[in-house]
Amino acid sequence: MNIYKNIKFNKKEGIKMSHLLTRACPICHGHKGTILKNIQMCHLEGSPLPTTYPVVSCETCGFTFADVEATQQVYNEYYTNYNIHSEDSAVKDFQFRSGFENMYELMKNYISLNAKILDVGCGNGDFLRYLQKKGYNHLYGLDPSSEAITRLIKHGGVQGG
Ligand SMILES: [Zn+2]
Repeated sequence: MNIYKNIKFNKKEGIKMSHLLTRACPICHGHKGTILKNIQMCHLEGSPLPTTYPVVSCETCGFTFADVEATQQVYNEYYTNYNIHSEDSAVKDFQFRSGFENMYELMKNYISLNAKILDVGCGNGDFLRYLQKKGYNHLYGLDPSSEAITRLIKHGGVQGG
């Protein structure tokens, strides 16, 4: 059963297209997905990560994930040398802030300040620190990049692993 069948798709972006996945679904190892949104990223010159990738829903199990082919080594290199997401980054253009605000506006009426929040794939934990400033105090981050988790823990107030 695809639990995402009731999602309203944005027709302007031409989404809800069947897509042969770049990487197999991490849950069921399926190879076909539906594109929910195409993401455009802005990276520093030389970054090893792609500038575009689709967010997909697996057609077999419904799991939603970024269909991007990048190894853990590539992510580690990115978080070490090309990161623009953290507060200690050389780049201070936080284009992500409006996205944080949008997510916060969606969740604030449903998730109490005492809720335990786990951000899976948290990167440097910028969204968690944003939530901390909004008053949430049980925040946890999980990311495969040890560099990202080191930065997350360095800032304090959020637990990471
Ligand atoms: Zn799947």
